[in-house]
Amino acid sequence: MQRLLDSYRAIPPNSTVRLAKPTSNLFRARDRSDVKGLDVSGLTNVIAVDAEARTADVAGMCTYEDLVAATLPHGLAPLVVPQLKTITLGGAVTGLGIESTSFRNGLPHESVLEMDILTGAGEIVTASPEQHPDLFRTFPNSYGTLGYSTRLRIELEPVTSFVALRHLRFHSLTDLVAAMDRIIETGGLDGEPVDYLDGVVFSADESYLCVGFKTTTPGPVSDYTGQDIYYRSIQHAQGEKHDRLTIHDYLWRWDTDWFWCSRAFGAQNPTIRRFWPRRLRRSSFYWKLVGYDQRFNIADRIEKRNGRPPRERVVQDIEVPIENCERFLSWFLENVPIEPIWLCPLRLRDDDRHAAGWPLYPLRAHHTYVNVGFWSSVPVGPVEGHTNKLIETKVSELDGHKSLYSDSYYPREDFDELYGGETYKAVKKSYDPDSRLFDLYSKAVLRR
Ligand SMILES: Cc1cc2nc3c(=O)[nH]c(=O)nc-3n(C[C@H](O)[C@H](O)[C@H](O)COP(=O)(O)OP(=O)(O)OC[C@H]3O[C@@H](n4cnc5c(N)ncnc54)[C@H](O)[C@@H]3O)c2cc1C
Repeated sequence: MQRLLDSYRAIPPNSTVRLAKPTSNLFRARDRSDVKGLDVSGLTNVIAVDAEARTADVAGMCTYEDLVAATLPHGLAPLVVPQLKTITLGGAVTGLGIESTSFRNGLPHESVLEMDILTGAGEIVTASPEQHPDLFRTFPNSYGTLGYSTRLRIELEPVTSFVALRHLRFHSLTDLVAAMDRIIETGGLDGEPVDYLDGVVFSADESYLCVGFKTTTPGPVSDYTGQDIYYRSIQHAQGEKHDRLTIHDYLWRWDTDWFWCSRAFGAQNPTIRRFWPRRLRRSSFYWKLVGYDQRFNIADRIEKRNGRPPRERVVQDIEVPIENCERFLSWFLENVPIEPIWLCPLRLRDDDRHAAGWPLYPLRAHHTYVNVGFWSSVPVGPVEGHTNKLIETKVSELDGHKSLYSDSYYPREDFDELYGGETYKAVKKSYDPDSRLFDLYSKAVLRR
């Protein structure tokens, strides 16, 4: 903490305060800065796990990989574990995370009991539903524009050694969404309580729900860190397919191939895969390759050499109310040439402590939403961000929201209306009176 505070004080008062952190899962490109950032090197560990109280005290920049490694030996896990190993707890709370437990556990910030935050003013405050509740409520989706969380106390839940999976095949999106809704409304499938739920759409007539059940029953398990690829294992012609994974491999099932995105680097080509070191089959390594591409414009140069136009990056996660999910998916499949698409249902937790809601990412209580994730590129359109703008318009039309970890194009007034406007401004003024941190619009839309 002392190193952090010293580094804050060393930043000239007229310079913007930024994080200096070795990994990131932020997709939008940012301006480079010559000023040294905050030294968070001492804030990467799990401080303590209280197995009896089912809580953990965790430093803000601790990755979920390290966090899960500390909780699993106690038979516990965070209530929501985002799929990519280097996402940090602080990053997932301030930038929103989601996973297959979100239909029953909500989003990562809903299981935070309290957190210490280094505010823009350079003070450390403890925020909770009772202390500094204005900061606590506006922190989720603020992307480090109000302050940086340095310690978080979170709830944990019991997990079992294995997860049994039933992959259900659908030939129509209507049937898929109806089945998803039924599972969430009843909490089960064929009378068995469901613990994990996500899905993948390959096309309008090929989609799947991946339904997971906690189990202690020993038996053989699959391994998708070798030659086999998890998302391909889901596919089948009819009905159901069954599978089993250890809880560790289930939590990281999407990291090995960064969902399906490792395809772009050749990592799914059986010959290349054989020689691709196992320890480098992970999202943080693909991130490095993306970094080279962005720096040297590799993909666009290849397109140009082949006589094709450059491409627009369309890397987004959006949420729509479940009743509009099929409409969004049908529109998307007709208008945006990207597949597969990831689906993950979510509901805010039914928790009286959080009745006041989360103003920077307002979702209706007691209502199911579906997160739709798509991460690829399309040929450029007539104006910059053409396809991203079409998606923003469609999401608003369907009463949805868009995460801000990637490119955004909203005009300022629309943005303020969607992401907490006046409430945000008031809290920003209290905790960052001298604007030492960028504001949310500058970061999310202006790419500062
Ligand atoms: C391709 C892709 C797919 C994704 N898919 C998922 C997904 O499936 N599930 C999911 O849960 N999330 C997903 N995300 C989003 C991810 O959870 C967010 O981008 C998250 O903010 C990343 O956390 P990080 O720790 O890597 O933070 P960084 O990328 O380092 O930073 C993200 C932002 O948070 C701020 N920040 C970081 N740490 C802190 C802190 N301690 N306190 C305050 N502010 C902080 C930074 O200033 C920055 O503005 C995805 C992102 C990408 C790019």
